[in-house]
Amino acid sequence: MGRLDGKVALISGGAKSQGAAEARAFVSEGAKVVFGDILDDLGNKLANEINIHSENAKYIHLDVTLEDDWKNAIKTTVDEYGKLDILVNNAGIVINRVPIEERTVEEWDRVQAVNSRGVFLGTKHAIPAMRDSGGGSIINICSVAGYGQSTTQEPAYAASKGAVRIFSKVTATQHAKDNIRSNAIFPGPIDTEMVHAAMSDPKALAERLTRVPMGRLGLVKEIVAGVIFLASDESSYMTGGELVIDGGATSM
Ligand code: NAP
Repeated sequence: MGRLDGKVALISGGAKSQGAAEARAFVSEGAKVVFGDILDDLGNKLANEINIHSENAKYIHLDVTLEDDWKNAIKTTVDEYGKLDILVNNAGIVINRVPIEERTVEEWDRVQAVNSRGVFLGTKHAIPAMRDSGGGSIINICSVAGYGQSTTQEPAYAASKGAVRIFSKVTATQHAKDNIRSNAIFPGPIDTEMVHAAMSDPKALAERLTRVPMGRLGLVKEIVAGVIFLASDESSYMTGGELVIDGGATSM
């Protein structure tokens, strides 16, 4: 028995890193998965790899900033697998850290468009499909940057994740009546390309880890475990919730 047997999921930013691991794990746990990204070559390669053992995964082009892409993604999921039970709003970007007064409006807007508008659009178009399916679970991947560990965070990124933190609760309270749950995950620094690109200088990474009591990066599988829990019926009484997976970072 898989923990997601019979469920149908849509994952954004699924071509690599955390999203790719979620797509693989969801299929292993019995779900059918549509995953989208802007990295089409990587996404198609991953779909072929997962489908060696099944026909339970499909890759689609999904730029989360574009409403038409979301409409297409939801329609494809329902056409392909009959319903939508789970949405993982995983896609995200981070940009170089500069003082607030040097940040341009264009850079600010780009980060909000991917990290915040993308979650709004995914949620907006998932709600009717989930209602038709009898309910669902939305999992929003935030960050400790949006939870209050703000000392060294890039301001546009932190603000975008803070917006999603509250939006996730609004979704939960307004759609409990539709049997739609919405919860957020707050990862600390996780061992993916994103963190290594943002902290390519080993000194910067070492300094970041001084603010993580466990003294190490989190592993992708440690986030995936939380995502599966929130996607599954194991978390059936949980909505508007916050799952912090950060090696103790926000407790300092
Ligand atoms: P990642 O390795 O950069 O993967 C994110 C994926 O999203 C990439 O494939 C990326 O493509 C894609 N993406 C970017 N813009 C997109 C768009 N407009 N539409 C669709 N897909 C888009 O990052 P990750 O570490 O797996 O992060 C996953 C989530 O966890 C993000 O929301 C991130 O903010 C959050 N998070 C990460 C960490 C960490 O330390 N890694 C910590 C806290 C929270 P490109 O590579 O072309 O950008």
